[in-house]
Amino acid sequence: MERDVTTQHTETMNPALTALSEDERLFRDSVYEFADREIRPLVREMDEHAKIDKALVAKLFDLGVMGIEIPEMFGGGGASFFHSVLAVEALSRVDPSIGVLVDVQNTLVINALIRWGNDDIKRRYLPKMAASTIGAYGLSEAGSGSDAFALTTRAVERGGEWIITGRKLWITNGNEADLFIVFANINPEAGYRGITAFLVERGFPGFTVGKKEDKLGIRASSTCELLFEECRVPKANVLGEVGKGYKVAIETLNEGRIGIGAQMIGLAQGALDHAIKYTKERKQFGKAIAEFQAVQHQLARAATDVEASRLLVYNAARLRDAQQPFLTEAAMCKVFSSEVAERVASLAVNLFGGNGFVKEYPVEKLYRDAKIGQIYEGTTNLQLQTIAKNLIAI
Ligand SMILES: Cc1cc2nc3c(=O)[nH]c(=O)nc-3n(C[C@H](O)[C@H](O)[C@H](O)COP(=O)(O)OP(=O)(O)OC[C@H]3O[C@@H](n4cnc5c(N)ncnc54)[C@H](O)[C@@H]3O)c2cc1C
Repeated sequence: MERDVTTQHTETMNPALTALSEDERLFRDSVYEFADREIRPLVREMDEHAKIDKALVAKLFDLGVMGIEIPEMFGGGGASFFHSVLAVEALSRVDPSIGVLVDVQNTLVINALIRWGNDDIKRRYLPKMAASTIGAYGLSEAGSGSDAFALTTRAVERGGEWIITGRKLWITNGNEADLFIVFANINPEAGYRGITAFLVERGFPGFTVGKKEDKLGIRASSTCELLFEECRVPKANVLGEVGKGYKVAIETLNEGRIGIGAQMIGLAQGALDHAIKYTKERKQFGKAIAEFQAVQHQLARAATDVEASRLLVYNAARLRDAQQPFLTEAAMCKVFSSEVAERVASLAVNLFGGNGFVKEYPVEKLYRDAKIGQIYEGTTNLQLQTIAKNLIAI
């Protein structure tokens, strides 16, 4: 009997990284269609006013992208980390500010709650996060960015509560969030082993959201300081173990940076979409500028860059979902995709000519937005340090 070689071959082969399951494809397409219809008309205004449209946030909850990995029993989507990556990519293709709102919600805050929250914490917070509560992640301070564990925010135990004092800086979603993961040190003498993660609600006494930064890019996304003046936090709001906050931070950020990779590939794809459309329409020397071979080669190079960075991001995300090591791959995807985003957005500005330089057209914003990918959730230097460490095993 003849063997069916084709079937056998297909069954044993791993699918292509960019091959989406039916469910993944439908999810990605529905998020992109939403972004195109509901977000695109608001992008310029939100950028100019440095504010996310409130009604849009409610629609994001309705769409199901604010609780992607939350188990269905808590009202979430019960989907994978890879789904979060697809959502962030699809949204960032239209607006990277909305991309990062959804990214922090899913890949940092909800991710940490699912991984480190006990049953009580999950019961109290996950249903709210799936329905209407926005989350933020407060690690950085004025004096501790790359050296995150040099943080000086303190927590002391008093009267059956934790009392937090200090100041956080650069906190994404600060304006919109009602739940904040806040890292504070309970025993500075123990160094990073004193760092503990706390869940702080907006209304807790002694907590205020301070000034909002006026930024170069992702202007609609709020970036705020957080002030803690003897802020009282119930003991039940420690996330993970006391003194193990450094683990919560490291492990969530390792995953979170894949989300930033997703934001950057979405941005790069968005810039390329605009460049292709414009160069086919704009005529010089009697023909569309896309007909010049020099322009075609620039577009081809950009498309190759976007595809390569998408492969890196999808690979890191799929490794994470398969519970395989992904640290180096996550660092690589962030380094590469953020550089590609800057390069492709810059090319898009060039190909739009003078129109690329004015706010009436969409590409100057993407060029400004791209810069942040090399800074937050670990700068490029810090990612390279992680990659190199594994490479030479020190
Ligand atoms: C828009 C925005 C949103 C943000 N959102 C959040 C958030 O939600 N939550 C949060 O906690 N933080 C957030 N951050 C903070 C962000 O993660 C930090 O800005 C980032 O980690 C860099 O820290 P820093 O700004 O202190 O820069 P520094 O650490 O002072 O770095 C300055 C430069 O020195 C280089 N450098 C530092 N150390 C080394 C080294 N060892 N080797 C080589 N080079 C080095 C860096 O690569 C960088 O180029 C946000 C920042 C911005 C701008």
